[in-house]
Amino acid sequence: MPHWTANSLADALKDLHPDLRVLGPEALAGRHPGEHPDNLAAGVMALPATTEAAAALIGWCRANHITIMPQGGTSGLVGGGVSRAGEVILSSQRLNRILAIRPEESTVEIEAGVTLEALQAALLPHGLTTGIDLGSRGSATIGGMLSTNAGGILAFRNGVMRHQILGLEAVLPSGEIFSDLTRVVKVSAGPDLKQLFIGGEGAFGFVTRIVMTVERLRPQRVTALLGVADAASALTVVSHLRGLSAVTLEAAEMMWPRYVKEHAALKGFDLGWLEDDAAMLLVDVSAETQEQAAGQLEEALADLWDRADLKGGIIAQSFEQSRRFWDLREDSGFYLARFPEAPSFDISIPPTELDAYVADLLEGLRRTGSGYEAYVYGHVADGNLHIALAAPGPLPKDIKHAVEDAVYGGVTARGGSFSAEHGVGLEKRDAYGHHVSALKQSLARQIKALLDPDGLFNAGKVPF
Ligand SMILES: Cc1cc2nc3c(=O)[nH]c(=O)nc-3n(C[C@H](O)[C@H](O)[C@H](O)COP(=O)(O)OP(=O)(O)OC[C@H]3O[C@@H](n4cnc5c(N)ncnc54)[C@H](O)[C@@H]3O)c2cc1C
Repeated sequence: MPHWTANSLADALKDLHPDLRVLGPEALAGRHPGEHPDNLAAGVMALPATTEAAAALIGWCRANHITIMPQGGTSGLVGGGVSRAGEVILSSQRLNRILAIRPEESTVEIEAGVTLEALQAALLPHGLTTGIDLGSRGSATIGGMLSTNAGGILAFRNGVMRHQILGLEAVLPSGEIFSDLTRVVKVSAGPDLKQLFIGGEGAFGFVTRIVMTVERLRPQRVTALLGVADAASALTVVSHLRGLSAVTLEAAEMMWPRYVKEHAALKGFDLGWLEDDAAMLLVDVSAETQEQAAGQLEEALADLWDRADLKGGIIAQSFEQSRRFWDLREDSGFYLARFPEAPSFDISIPPTELDAYVADLLEGLRRTGSGYEAYVYGHVADGNLHIALAAPGPLPKDIKHAVEDAVYGGVTARGGSFSAEHGVGLEKRDAYGHHVSALKQSLARQIKALLDPDGLFNAGKVPF
């Protein structure tokens, strides 16, 4: 068997199919690797422009025992896109066509490499938008979002990617094309096999085409920043706003005090209106007109002030001010400048358990004796918290387990998940081993062995 180098692999692949472009180490050298420095470590990337070209590449890799690393926009946060020498990166970047927009059905058919932002821009003239939205919209692809079962800002209302996908096409490790491009919600014909690819993190095949639902765009929005004592207070606001018929709640994002104070100071954001040690809730509401949205929101906040124990609040007076508010939440990596590679976690908890969980988390971290504190923020209405330690990563071995116990302890018992929306990838492998039942792990491994007996796809990541 030949010993492949990145250059010899790139050479062998370059004439495999007319719709396949191949980049070798030189061409990749200047490229930004995305959210993980090792995403491009394989040094060779295959970029098919058609499903058939992807199938040809996969067939060749199978025959030559070369493992394949599917990649989308490389915005993943758990190292799921990391590649290694000897592998081929299979990128969806050239699968970037929007094939059909069907306003009367509220569906779109697209190739997997279309970015969320490109899809949102294409939907705009039709008065439509995606039912899911993420801060990484400029780079995250719909194929990558499908593969990680992404959640984001609208999940409390519309569910996660799994609830948006009607059909998909994928090339299996065997080189066969699995095509299930249904455009309907109702299909009761046996197990829904496309679900394997949703949240499958590229372990079961390469997704090439997707049919998903979209929704009506409601551009007349108003943003407010509110001081809240805790998640219970934030949820009182959420529940009240969701109950109003004249406005639609578009977002409810919460930032706990440490996150708020440090980020606001860094951004020069005046917090004079916020009571000391309050957390912050960011809400967006939409209505038929901007005036209606603002009027309804003001009225609702007056109603809620005492009942929700609000600690201050401001309503954005312009689009620019609204962007500044959002920047506080979405530019969430600000702490990385101070704490490079800060260990971070992404858990979900039933929303009514959030305050008890956060109190236990902070107490648990104190008990480790590590002195670590945490930045806590997230999608409060669906109970999804992002937690970053105020410490440089990676965690020292002697403290790792104690810290992970503090973060993950009680998550499953409370009915939550150790991995909410970012996936397992490389970084949550240990946690997967500890927090997923032995039976579920064994079934997942059996399905993987059935579809990918040679372990061709995304080797060494999600442990199945
Ligand atoms: C600023 C920022 C904000 C974010 N906010 C959110 C958020 O609110 N919610 C959220 O869920 N995530 C969020 N993320 C994480 C990230 O954007 C998502 O995980 C996203 O779904 C990854 O998409 P991608 O195209 O970049 O995939 P990649 O990072 O390239 O890949 C992710 C995984 O999917 C697999 N994959 C990619 N494409 C395919 C394909 N075509 N076929 C098979 N497998 C494939 C890869 O093998 C890998 O395992 C955020 C990231 C950043 C940087």
